[in-house]
Amino acid sequence: MRCEVCGCPGVRWLRVSTVARQFRCSSKRVRRLIKRGEIDGVLLGGEWRVDHRSLDDYVSKDSVRFSAPGAAPQW
Ligand SMILES: [Zn+2]
Repeated sequence: MRCEVCGCPGVRWLRVSTVARQFRCSSKRVRRLIKRGEIDGVLLGGEWRVDHRSLDDYVSKDSVRFSAPGAAPQW
């Protein structure tokens, strides 16, 4: 099941690579968003996971860049 807000799989913690693929950006870019505090993330077994709720918040706040799920944002 896919999330209606960001189009990612409907799980609580998303892999950085999943988010990067969904928004057609690099994993580095996603990790930078976590570090800047734009989205929340946790380190699980040496790998960053993105808090899906914070990603949805981020996406809905930025409706210009994220006009539709799966649309390529101008990152
Ligand atoms: Zn979502």
